[in-house]
Amino acid sequence: MATSATLAMAAKARELKEAGKDIIGLSLGEPDFTIPEFVKEAAIRAIEEDYHSYTPVDGYGELKQAIITKFKRDNNLNYAPQQIVVSTGAKQSLANLAQVLLNEGDEVLLPAPYWVSYADISKVAGGVPVEIPSTLENDFKITPEALQAAITPRSKMLVYSSPCNPSGSVYSRDELRALADVLVKHPQIIVVSDEIYEHINFTGNHASMAQFDDMYDRTVTVNGVSKAYSMTGWRIGYIGGPEYIARACNKMQGQVTSGANCIAQRATIAALENPPSRIQYMIDAFRHRRKLTLDLLAQIPGFSCNEPEGAFYVFPDISHYFGKTIRGTAIKTASDFALFLLSEANVATVTGEAFGSPNCIRISYAASEAEITEAMQRIKEVLTN
Ligand code: PMP
Ligand code: GLU
Repeated sequence: MATSATLAMAAKARELKEAGKDIIGLSLGEPDFTIPEFVKEAAIRAIEEDYHSYTPVDGYGELKQAIITKFKRDNNLNYAPQQIVVSTGAKQSLANLAQVLLNEGDEVLLPAPYWVSYADISKVAGGVPVEIPSTLENDFKITPEALQAAITPRSKMLVYSSPCNPSGSVYSRDELRALADVLVKHPQIIVVSDEIYEHINFTGNHASMAQFDDMYDRTVTVNGVSKAYSMTGWRIGYIGGPEYIARACNKMQGQVTSGANCIAQRATIAALENPPSRIQYMIDAFRHRRKLTLDLLAQIPGFSCNEPEGAFYVFPDISHYFGKTIRGTAIKTASDFALFLLSEANVATVTGEAFGSPNCIRISYAASEAEITEAMQRIKEVLTN
C-alpha cells in the first residue's frame, strides 16, 4: 500500500517549516477556520457533563437522530437508526465499507481523478482499483459510456466524491441520473457516494445518488464534519445506507476501534442540529478564494484549469512543463513539478498522479488570501524568471 500522498506532502512541508523554511502549505485539504462557537460550546459542555465512557460502536443514539434529521433536511433522504454508522472520520467509514464489501479480486470503479485514499483503501481490502478516465474539457466528469465500458462481471463498488476532491467538479442531478441508468443494469455494484464536501458547493445544488428510488437500496452515502465545520482533527464521519451494510460496518468497527470519541460526537450533534446557514460565512470565503486563486493562476503560463464548482481545490493540468528543464531541474512528471514548486517556490501542492491524473497538480485554496496571493506570486516567479 502506498503512503497517503496528501499526508506525505503535508508532513514534508511541516518538516521544512520546522527546519526554518518559509513554506506555504497548499497541499492539505484542511479548512483554516476555527471551529464555530456553538460547536465548541457543545464540546465544553460534554466535558463538564462528564462524558467519558466508551460510546455505542455505531454512535450515540442522539447523534444518529441528528444525522437522520440532517439527511432528511439537506438531502431529502430517509434513513432509520439501524442504517446509520458513526465512525472516526469519513476515512474510517470508507475503510469499513471496503473491508466489509470487497472480496479478493473485486473491482472498484474509480472515476479519475479520485481522492487518493480510495485506491489504497480498496487494495488493502483485496480490491482492484479500475480507473475511469475523464477529461478537463468534460470538467473531469465521467460519461455514462465511460462507466459502461469499465464495468465487468467483477465490478463490485463504484466510489466517487461530488463535490470532487481533487477536481472540484459537481455532478448535477441529471448527470447522476445518466450514470444511474447504466448502474441499474448491473445490480451487483454498490455505490459509495462520498458527499463530505456537500456544503462547499458554489452551484447551490447538491444531488445524491441515493435520492433515486432505484438506487437507494444499493447506495451508501458517506459524509462527515471535517470540511464544512472545520473539524478535521475531531475525527467524525458517518454513513447512511442499506441496513445489512451498516450492520457489517458496525461489526468491523467493533473489532477495530470501537465507537468514535465521545466529546467529538457530542459536538457533532450541535454541528448537525444547526442549519447550514450558520456556516455560510466559510462557504462565502471559499468562493472568494476560489476566484482569487483562478485569477492569479490565469496569469501563470502553462496552467490549464477548469472552474471548480465545489470543494476547495483547483486541479490544473501542468503537462506543458513536461520535458522542460527549469532552473536546472528536469520536469518529467507531475511529481517532479510538485517537488520543484516545493524546493524552488517554497509552495507545497500535491501531484495529480496520486489522484489518477498524472498531468495535473492539486492546489488547495483552504488558506488565507494573503497566503494564496503570495504562493501564486512565488510560483509565477520561479516559472517565468
Ligand atoms: N473523502 C474525501 C473526498 C476527502 O477529501 C476526505 C479528506 N479528509 C475524506 C473523505 C476523509 O475525511 P475525514 O476527515 O472525515 O476522515
Ligand atoms: N482529505 C484531505 C486531502 O485530501 C486531507 C488529507 C487526507 O485525509 O488524506 O487533502
